[in-house]
Parts: sequence; C-alpha cells; structure tokens
Amino acid sequence: MLRDAIRALAEAKIAPHAAAVDEEARFPQEALDALVAADLHAVHVPESYGGTGADALATVIVIEEVARVCASSSLIPAVNKLGSLPVILSGSEDLKKKYMTPLAKGDAMFSYALSEPDAGSDAAGMKTRAVRDGDFYVLNGVKRWITNAGESEYYTVMAVTDPTKRSKGISAFVVEKSDDGVSFGAPERKLGIKGSPTREVYLDNVRIPADRMIGEEGTGFATAMKTLDHTRITIAAQALGIAQGALDYAKGYVQERKQFGKPIADFQGIQFMLADMAMKIEAARQLTYAAAAKSERGDKDLTFQGAAAKCFASDVAMEVTTDAVQLLGGYGYTRDYPVERMMRDAKITQIYEGTNQVQRIVMARNLP
Ligand SMILES: Cc1cc2nc3c(=O)[nH]c(=O)nc-3n(C[C@H](O)[C@H](O)[C@H](O)COP(=O)(O)OP(=O)(O)OC[C@H]3O[C@@H](n4cnc5c(N)ncnc54)[C@H](O)[C@@H]3O)c2cc1C
Repeated sequence: MLRDAIRALAEAKIAPHAAAVDEEARFPQEALDALVAADLHAVHVPESYGGTGADALATVIVIEEVARVCASSSLIPAVNKLGSLPVILSGSEDLKKKYMTPLAKGDAMFSYALSEPDAGSDAAGMKTRAVRDGDFYVLNGVKRWITNAGESEYYTVMAVTDPTKRSKGISAFVVEKSDDGVSFGAPERKLGIKGSPTREVYLDNVRIPADRMIGEEGTGFATAMKTLDHTRITIAAQALGIAQGALDYAKGYVQERKQFGKPIADFQGIQFMLADMAMKIEAARQLTYAAAAKSERGDKDLTFQGAAAKCFASDVAMEVTTDAVQLLGGYGYTRDYPVERMMRDAKITQIYEGTNQVQRIVMARNLP
C-alpha cells in the first residue's frame, strides 16, 4: 500500500518536473510541497515527536520510489533522515523535541555537515573547531559538499572540541541556519542530482548554547559513523530507484523502436541485456531490504550489511543506467529522453556517504 501510494504521488507530482529541475539546476520545490502534503518528507521521525514513525524498510521504499522518477527529489526524505538521525540516536530528549517536531511538520529540513575541503574519506581529519565559552560553544570552520545547504533550517555539524584526540576529540552540534555567523557558498555545478543544492557552509564565530551539543563531548564522530551505518541503506535505496526507473523506461522503448522491420525487443541480444539489468536490480533490492531490516533491529552485522548494500546497489545503478542509454542508442544520449539524466544521477551514489572504495574498507574491517 505504501509503495502504491508513493508511486502514484511520484508519478503525478514529481516526475513531471524532473527534467526541468535537472535542466535548470533548481531545487525541486514541487516535490517538497507534494511530499510534505502527503507526510512523506521525513517518514522516519518517531510518532512521539509528531512524525509518522515509519520503520527503516518503509523509509527505504519511499526513497526508492521517489528516486525512480527524480533522484534529486529523493534527497529530501533521504537527507532529512541523514541530518536528523544523530539527534534521534544520541541527542537529549529536549533536543529531540525541539528539532524533530518542526521536521515532522514539514516546517524545516535537516542537513548533515561532516565533510570539509581537506577531509572527505578521512573525515576524522576535519579542522572545524568548537571552543567552549561558559554556557556556549563557538564554532569556526568550513563544511563542504553539504546537501540541501541553504534550504535546510537545521544542520548537524561535527567539529573538533579536543584536537589532541583525533576522532575521539570530535563532537556533534545542532546549528541553525539563522544562527549569527552561518552563511553558504554558491551551489556546486554538478554532473548530476542537479536539483539537489550542494554548498559549502561557513561557520564564522557561530555562538550556540552548550545544550545544542548532541550527546557527550567527544562522541560526535562515533555518532556520525553510527548514523551512516543506517543511512547508507537509504543511498542504496536511491540507487535502486534510479536503476529501476532506467529499466522501466528502456523496457517500454525497446517495444516501440523498430529496426530491421521489427521491435528491437525481439532481438535476443537486447533481451539478454534487459534480463541482466532486472537480475542485478533484484539482487540489489534484496540486499537493501535485508539491510533495512537489520537497521531497524540494530543487528550486530549492520555495518557490513549497510556498506554492502550501498556499494552493490550503487554499482548496479551505474551499470543499469549505462545499459539503458545503450538500449536507446543515439536517442539515449540526448536530453530528450530521461535515461542520460538517470546515468548522470547514478554516479553520485558511488561517491557520497563514503565512496565505494571506503565502503570496501568498512566491509573488510567488519567481515561477517
Ligand atoms: C553531490 C555531493 C553531495 C554530498 N553531500 C554531503 C553531505 O550532505 N554531507 C557531507 O558531510 N558530505 C557530503 N558529501 C561529501 C562526500 O561524502 C565526499 O565527497 C566523499 O566522502 C569523498 O570525499 P572527497 O570528495 O574528499 O574524496 P577523497 O577522500 O579525496 O577521495 C578521492 C579518491 O580517493 C579514494 N580514496 C580515499 N581514501 C582512500 C583509501 N584509504 N583507500 C582507497 N581509496 C581511497 C576515494 O575513494 C576517491 O576515489 C557530498 C558530496 C557530493 C559530491
């Protein structure tokens, strides 16, 4: 029922704008409005904070179905979870009440600010500092590549509180867009997910109350990594949706397109490609849903499974979307058809929330 509902909404209200959102590199406001109206913008927020309390699998299905028509729009529910999960996992009850309620209502979005210009895969090498000053912390630094920056009201920001301790000297904070000293860079000019704004976040003497710290001092990096264990599965879902969208489009096209006097779908070479695409997507789906169940239960092997799902599904998305372009021939290579956008959008799923090289490092350290 959930899949039917979100698919109908995505096809009616999000798909019609996907090409323009990409072409104009603009925020998908129509998608945000439609998702908020249907209470599907941040489904993971628990009912106790006014949310819908969807479990990890239901969240994955929402993201998958939105990504099937528009990858940029799928970053609305995905990044709302990424940004707010540190608070849900480690925040005080007061922080949860204060920040989850507007998120659930659709009054505010949440972003996640870990990466920096010189700290990507090696996120613990960050330089952003948070210095205690009485009942306040003062934050200074630059966060880079922050999804939905400028659009989101709230930011989970990881910053160094004790430079002698590397990852154990990092703490997490909630920073608000309206805090004095917060500003944003120009949107990055990207290959894909052009509708999802990616900007730098500048923190210039941002003075915030000490109770905005998420969890204890020095636990921020652990919270950030624990968050990724759960949210990498949402990137797997995004990849899965992009791949399914490309297969669905190509499947229709090969029935219509005629060469040598018959639909190209009649050629076995084409049929084998479609069979491989569908097989890989189904394998990615099973891995992703199994990981979502582990996320919900908090299983011990979640770290391996989340990394495996993200890595596998994103590689599948890249292969399947490239094959979809191939199946449309020259037409697939133009912006008149959606598969080239899907191929460009797929690429990011191999890069963010840890590159697929980093996923392999995570898997190797957590072999089952
Ligand atoms: C569109 C977009 C949105 C993003 N959104 C967010 C966000 O909302 N919040 C946020 O905090 N970050 C975000 N990121 C940042 C993203 O997570 C990083 O770009 C990513 O982790 C890689 O870091 P990097 O770009 O610095 O690459 P680097 O770390 O410099 O890596 C360069 C290459 O080296 C490889 N490499 C690095 N170390 C190793 C190693 N030990 N072994 C083998 N290979 C290695 C990498 O796999 C990669 O291929 C986003 C990035 C993009 C592009």
